[in-house]
Amino acid sequence: MSQEPRDRPRETPPCVGFWRRELRRALGGALNVFAARMINLRSRGGWVTPLSLEAYRALPTPSPLDTTRLIVGRSNRERARLLETVLHGRGVPVTRAPFRTVEGAGVSFFAEAGAGPRVLLLAGHHDAVPGSPGANDNAAAVGILLALWERLAADPPRRLTVRFGFFGGEERGMLGSRVYARTAALGNLVGVVSLELCGIGDSLALWDVTPAVEATPLVRAWIASVEGLGYRRDETYHLAEPVPFFGSDHRPFADRGVPGVGLTAVPTASAEALRAFIYGGVRGILVPPARRPAPFTTYHTAADRPETLEPATLARVGTVLEALCRTLDAPGGGR
Ligand SMILES: [Zn+2]
Repeated sequence: MSQEPRDRPRETPPCVGFWRRELRRALGGALNVFAARMINLRSRGGWVTPLSLEAYRALPTPSPLDTTRLIVGRSNRERARLLETVLHGRGVPVTRAPFRTVEGAGVSFFAEAGAGPRVLLLAGHHDAVPGSPGANDNAAAVGILLALWERLAADPPRRLTVRFGFFGGEERGMLGSRVYARTAALGNLVGVVSLELCGIGDSLALWDVTPAVEATPLVRAWIASVEGLGYRRDETYHLAEPVPFFGSDHRPFADRGVPGVGLTAVPTASAEALRAFIYGGVRGILVPPARRPAPFTTYHTAADRPETLEPATLARVGTVLEALCRTLDAPGGGR
């Protein structure tokens, strides 16, 4: 999850609007990385020791937490390299998509399950900000998506293709997903769900949900799926309006008219405090991490370690996403 300047209503021609937005994202990305570097300047101690690749490979069925423990606490280059190695090692047919722009370079990876004409894109970025081990933001999402790919590959959707996007450069103003959204064919996308901070909490929040987005097949299928699993609206699941100051990889798609939402796990006990923090204006953002509500206590800090994650939450997110895929795959699913 990256911080970005607040969106303004667009009144300018689309082309001018596009370049303004690109510039804002580029500046926001640079600021996001710089702010994390400053926050983490003095917190060198207590760095995590990641799981070695050998130890990971020795596990019979690595869990999302195991994948998280493999990736955390490493450079972004190393995170990408290990993710690619693991994807190949676990038999995932991977498309590698390196990108290089004036803002920076990186690599995104794509995998698919199912072969239907409609496409659901599930996104989870693999990069982290400097000075943070990047467990909840966002190695946990990578672990959840990898486990979900395995479940779907074993019993593939028939009317739907689920595309898994492991994006690079999210913390640099969603660079990887911006490049992809600019160049890929988007016409058959049902929507994009971007996983962010999916490892702490017992309820789920779908965010950037306007009334128009709520009416799309994507969000209607989401509601049917979570309610089918026993979640209750405004109690154990939340539809949150567009989030200021923070962004994720669904935004470049939403800019192009594709329904896009973020997905975050939230402790029910901090739901109200979170609402005040997220929608409380710039003052909320200036609150020091330790005094923020969970899961933002560890966000972009050296405390974003794998031991803060809750295995039940990682499993919960995987279950809900699988239900979403099955709902969209059902005849007339979500329509
Ligand atoms: Zn982030």
